[in-house]
Amino acid sequence: MPGEGSYDTDIMFIGEGPGANEDEKGVPFCGASGKFLDEMLESVELDRDKVFITNTVKCRPPGNRDPEDDEKTTCRPYLERQIELIAPKVIVCLGRHAAASLLPGQPSISAIHGKALKRPNGIVYLPLYHPAAALHNGSLRSTLIADFQKIPTILKKISETAKTTKIINETKQERLI
Ligand code: URA
Repeated sequence: MPGEGSYDTDIMFIGEGPGANEDEKGVPFCGASGKFLDEMLESVELDRDKVFITNTVKCRPPGNRDPEDDEKTTCRPYLERQIELIAPKVIVCLGRHAAASLLPGQPSISAIHGKALKRPNGIVYLPLYHPAAALHNGSLRSTLIADFQKIPTILKKISETAKTTKIINETKQERLI
């Protein structure tokens, strides 16, 4: 399941891997966590059709298990090519698998969620908790909703000039907010 959305977008959302619903329909995030994602997108006035949504692994891990390292490695060139073609300004990593794959060397998702990092490739990465993990957990849910609200600020900051954008250099990475 390659993903779906606009190829002409500033923002990509990258999840873990297709679940049963996604596998059957060929649409990313179309089950309960997708409904939650859609609500959060709407809350920041983003439309699913105007962003691109995909996953770290492109096939459903059997029995909904976590994707294994070799599966992530196998799918990586495909994901890299998608990122290259879409050339987003922001990549939102949905959950620990996407965050660990796309932000290697960073601490766990509980330490970095909601912190935007500009990488040497010029793309700003925003790691967030996974909607499925947050769906039935009150505190993760409110954290995810609050972190999601940072997206418009990040997009706005990116469109501002370097002069007005406060960027703190962190060795090779820059923390945006
Ligand atoms: N969870 C994911 O990580 N991706 C999907 O597409 C659906 C659920």
